[in-house]
Amino acid sequence: MIPAAFEYARASSVEEASKLLNKYGEDAKVLAGGHSLIPLMRLRLAQPKALIDINGIKDLDHIKEDGHKLRIGALTRHVTIQNSKVVHEKLPLLAEVAGEVGDNQVRNMGTMGGVVAHADAAGDYPTIALILDAEIVTNQRTIAAKDFFKDLFTTPLAADEIVTEVVFPVANGPHKYIKFRRRLFDWAIVGVAAQKMNGGWRIGLTNVGPTPVRANAVEEALKTGAKPEEAAQHASDGLDPAGDLRASPEYKKHLARVLTKRAIQQAQGQ
Ligand SMILES: Cc1cc2nc3c(=O)[nH]c(=O)nc-3n(C[C@H](O)[C@H](O)[C@H](O)COP(=O)(O)OP(=O)(O)OC[C@H]3O[C@@H](n4cnc5c(N)ncnc54)[C@H](O)[C@@H]3O)c2cc1C
Repeated sequence: MIPAAFEYARASSVEEASKLLNKYGEDAKVLAGGHSLIPLMRLRLAQPKALIDINGIKDLDHIKEDGHKLRIGALTRHVTIQNSKVVHEKLPLLAEVAGEVGDNQVRNMGTMGGVVAHADAAGDYPTIALILDAEIVTNQRTIAAKDFFKDLFTTPLAADEIVTEVVFPVANGPHKYIKFRRRLFDWAIVGVAAQKMNGGWRIGLTNVGPTPVRANAVEEALKTGAKPEEAAQHASDGLDPAGDLRASPEYKKHLARVLTKRAIQQAQGQ
């Protein structure tokens, strides 16, 4: 389908983008990679009156090491993260996840900021941001990931607020991200992330609810010495996933348990 008519403006700085967003208010949308927004517009599920294109803001495309942090600019494409030497060295889980996002075309265009701002339950980076206590930096403030993913497609971003960076801690210990899907390149039916950090495990689940989920009960069980297969039984504690065409709620809970066991074991090299 063809999108409804809209105005288009290209910003060359964050300040300019913010001014343009202010001008149109709630009726405007930021355009980054366009790989979530444009499909929604073509289906007329989104009908913004104006698109503010931020692709010309070069400062938003960066990967910077900053002490024990890694600052990923909002316009950094998935393929750049996937191939980044510094991400491979300092946060290899993120490089692994970036390589699992969609297909080549999606990875060439889609951006870190776009995935985070879109807050799709099946988005892969939000799970990593949540379990690693990442921070979402905007032109107005810094928001902890745990306070950012409020509900399905819902974040605290104001109409004139622009994500500028996502800041992750360095974590280069054992890790694994497993995405269960029917076909290569599909979105996750369920995804599980496991990262060992500061002596403990961080475990996160993708697409088992409206927001990413931190599997606290699994982390606790591992802390008290449970084996991966025992701890993983807690992965579905408290989950109430919606069923969809690809999986029933019960199947998603089953996947959460099985994939959690596999993710921890594979992270441990088993
Ligand atoms: C076929 C296909 C398969 C895909 N598979 C996956 C997958 O497996 N895993 C996954 O995680 N994603 C997947 N995606 C989504 C892809 O990663 C998108 O690129 C991503 O969701 C949105 O990023 P974008 O840069 O394209 O944002 P856009 O589509 O341009 O924008 C998305 C939303 O975020 C807002 N936005 C964008 N950037 C900012 C910013 N800096 N500040 C404030 N608001 C902003 C926009 O206004 C819009 O509301 C897939 C997409 C397609 C088309």
